[in-house]
Amino acid sequence: MNRTECTTSTTCPYCGVGCGVEAKVEQRELIAVSGDRHHPANAGRLCVKGSALHETTGHEGRLLRPRVKGRDVSWDSALDEVAGRFTRLIEEHGPDSVAFYLSGQILTEDYYVANKLMKGFIGSANVDTNSRLCMSSAVAAQKRAFGSDSVPACYEDLELADLVVLVGSNAAWAHPILYQRLARARERRPGMKVVVLDPRRTATCDLADRHLALKPGSDGYLFNGLLTYLADRNALDQTYIERHCEGFDEALAAAREQCPDIATTAALCGLPAAELEWLYQRFAATERSLTLYSQGINQSSSGTDKANAIINCHLATGRVGKPGASPFSLTGQPNAMGGREVGGLANQLAAHMDFANPDHLDAVRTFWQAPRLAQNEGLKAVDLFRAVEAGDVKAVWIIGTNPAFSLPDAARVRRALERCELVVVSDCVADTDTTRLADILLPATTWAEKNGTVTNSERRISRQRSLLPPPGEARHDWQILCDVATRMGFGEAFAYRHPAEIFREHAALSGFRNNGSRDFDISALAQLSQAQYDALAPIQWPVTDRCPEGTARLFGDGGFYTPSGRARLLPVWARPPATPCRMDELVLNTGRVRDQWHSMTRTARSPRLLEHCDEPYVEIHAQDASRRGIANGDLVRLHAREQSYIGRARISDGQRPGSLFAPMHWNDRYTAAGCVDALVAPVTDPVSGQPESKQSPVRLEVVEQH
Ligand code: SF4
Repeated sequence: MNRTECTTSTTCPYCGVGCGVEAKVEQRELIAVSGDRHHPANAGRLCVKGSALHETTGHEGRLLRPRVKGRDVSWDSALDEVAGRFTRLIEEHGPDSVAFYLSGQILTEDYYVANKLMKGFIGSANVDTNSRLCMSSAVAAQKRAFGSDSVPACYEDLELADLVVLVGSNAAWAHPILYQRLARARERRPGMKVVVLDPRRTATCDLADRHLALKPGSDGYLFNGLLTYLADRNALDQTYIERHCEGFDEALAAAREQCPDIATTAALCGLPAAELEWLYQRFAATERSLTLYSQGINQSSSGTDKANAIINCHLATGRVGKPGASPFSLTGQPNAMGGREVGGLANQLAAHMDFANPDHLDAVRTFWQAPRLAQNEGLKAVDLFRAVEAGDVKAVWIIGTNPAFSLPDAARVRRALERCELVVVSDCVADTDTTRLADILLPATTWAEKNGTVTNSERRISRQRSLLPPPGEARHDWQILCDVATRMGFGEAFAYRHPAEIFREHAALSGFRNNGSRDFDISALAQLSQAQYDALAPIQWPVTDRCPEGTARLFGDGGFYTPSGRARLLPVWARPPATPCRMDELVLNTGRVRDQWHSMTRTARSPRLLEHCDEPYVEIHAQDASRRGIANGDLVRLHAREQSYIGRARISDGQRPGSLFAPMHWNDRYTAAGCVDALVAPVTDPVSGQPESKQSPVRLEVVEQH
């Protein structure tokens, strides 16, 4: 076999940047990776996590055979058990007594089949995903403003903007290649300004002209204040508002009532008025303004309103979907966007269609020939596990994720799973907090073995190609789902033999609407042959007969997907975090570190990735540390919800007094740290259902002096 035959183009499985990877395989082993020069997201670059991918594909710790109640069994026996028990529970208690919980790590084809089985054939919409925890507020905000969950911008805008505002986004660590693109653009264009809005001074601030360390959770006030400022300084695009928008007067009235002037807004945000005015002046004067937002906005009990407050300012200035000018939501996981496309959220139908629209229900029912299409939205992540706890959901099938670790109030989720009648877990890893609670374990393939598509933050669909054979008896998630569907009596609708068939069906459904509205549309890809699918180059949706090469930006000339065709500005009543801190508490912010991913099942295999940060820590302002007698390097404990988390104290003036930061990755598989998400209160945004993972009240104490 020559060198060319051993190298395959695929996509990185970590963050939502979706970088192209060239993977070199020799003797059935992945021996090296490099950035794909032809992939538009990264043009040959990889961050440190991506460049260590070949160090993480060993089989240690893999789940290799199906297990029922701890015993290895055959696939037939495991699948019969899953299908039989799901069928019995549905017959006895109805379709809403069962649920699927999916992951932004699985492929679009896996998501499509899971969603079709649950919503179309079982007849429940109880199919949600861990992407609920990362970007569902941005989805809800886009839907409210644009009439569709559509990101207007593309990565090239980072290079074209004159002002880039990063809000609640530590891109240097969470989206490193985008940060590098921004850093390079800034070098080339000295006039470009970069501003970071974040309570914490992060690595991203190294690039910034200004860092505004606003009060945790006060972003909604800041953007309401900006809307007032733009109106007062005649910096609005009146023509655009008149032609393309609705709701402007109501949005401005709400903003003005809360934030009538800079002094009031500055006080609400805990910022010097001069800093705020500097930002407002720049935004008002800069046509090419790009606002990137991420978990710091989304993971909030008012995340949807915050995202709409950002979008309001862009709509009021006509800066949506234009080169270098847009609001731009960055997704956390590699396929959070792909999951949304196929209805992987409990409140959506496939292809961005809605339960509330009878035409959409008809379209999906007809297209799938679905015998019992769910008619109403299902349970969102936090509510879904509450229903498990209450015994209303009696069987849950968890695919490729670890909710007993990552959901807020994780200890309660664990207790709920312990009590649940049937817990099925498909995973590539044998031992996680969640697999320990499973009645039935199904070995699944992982990156390097999977074959399908993912969609990144700029709507770009890319192929993830299999490089290695599955170990043991591992199977693809879509195959496992089809096998269960067949045993439940739905075989005809799930007779796929290759992911290309699933993708073609997904693409065809995106163009199959009764009412003509096609926000998510890739119907031009519905006729791909298997060879064309295998060779599919990265492409941004929509991909239709009118735009067969894909679409870089959306809404540049108006034409929104609302019934009126106009974008909606929303009146936003900004509010502080839902759970106020008591006198003895501090505000805990959770997040990623640069070189780790989720619960570290893959990244902890690479010694060099552990070098950057090899133990859990708690970042504390000096003032809060000295009040509690804490010195740098001491072991400290955080308490909340009768749970605790232990980490090494890092005293930093990058924290605001009263605020803490702790990384989300560690659990007791690695140390006795405990799980930081167990401390997060399960309060959610009322629109999106996204939990408030950034502002949880906790107590802090020293455990052991250094
Ligand atoms: Fe992978 Fe994200 Fe790094 Fe790109 S930036 S190589 S997608 S982790």
